[in-house]
Amino acid sequence: MTPHENHQESEIGKNLETVRARIRAACKRAGRDPEDVTLIAVSKLKPYEDILEARASGAEDFGENYVQEMAAKMDRHDSSENPSSIRWHMIGHLQKNKVKYLMGRAALIHSVDSVSLAEQIEKEAAKRDLTVRVLLEVNAAGEASKFGFAPDAAGEAAKEISALPHVKVLGLMTSAPPTEDPESNRGFFRELRILAMDLAAKGLIDTGDPEFRGPVLSMGMTGDFETAVEEGATMVRIGTAIFGRRDAAGIAR
Ligand SMILES: *Cc1c(COP(=O)(O)O)cnc(C)c1O
Repeated sequence: MTPHENHQESEIGKNLETVRARIRAACKRAGRDPEDVTLIAVSKLKPYEDILEARASGAEDFGENYVQEMAAKMDRHDSSENPSSIRWHMIGHLQKNKVKYLMGRAALIHSVDSVSLAEQIEKEAAKRDLTVRVLLEVNAAGEASKFGFAPDAAGEAAKEISALPHVKVLGLMTSAPPTEDPESNRGFFRELRILAMDLAAKGLIDTGDPEFRGPVLSMGMTGDFETAVEEGATMVRIGTAIFGRRDAAGIAR
């Protein structure tokens, strides 16, 4: 059976339906249009076959954390017969020497966490005459273990990065602390939204992009996406609730 024929019974398909229903319910509570929330299926450390299964169940946006793994999956997809359209999102920490592998391939880079990384993207994009869409990662909770701009440094960074001619800043991204209680992250999501609105009002976020209408707010994961949607997320990044738990050892299959 092809994924197209069995997707109604597939576990991933069922999980996607459940997640979509939960997003719709959160939108309803907040008086929002579910069309304004893009579901990004986070497929890191999961096999390419899982991506195909999710794609057959209607997922079009996929998030990956590791450049090599992402490139291998993109290559495999592009070389397949009649590849379906997929928008690939880079959501993990990005090293400067790997930027080149994403040029013209990643629809959106969520994880710009330094001005020097943005400058490297500028350099590689200019070489190829491309414009690269990015989000600025904000370390909303100030966790020592996390990358991202401090909230009070994001404005200055946005000023410098939005001036780069081949880099388009569409919004902000955050990963709130892992928690059993999503309510404890509500304040971080709210702050991110206020920050994004402020930067957009100052013209530092591009709100007229035809592909992803800004300001983009990429926030909310398996443990807290409903709260993020209630607080204005326009993209949620969900892995575990769709694909199941990842190998604790973090070994890519
Ligand atoms: C892994 C990851 C996710 C998805 O996490 P889940 O809890 O599995 O939904 C989202 N965003 C980032 C940046 C991640 O690294």
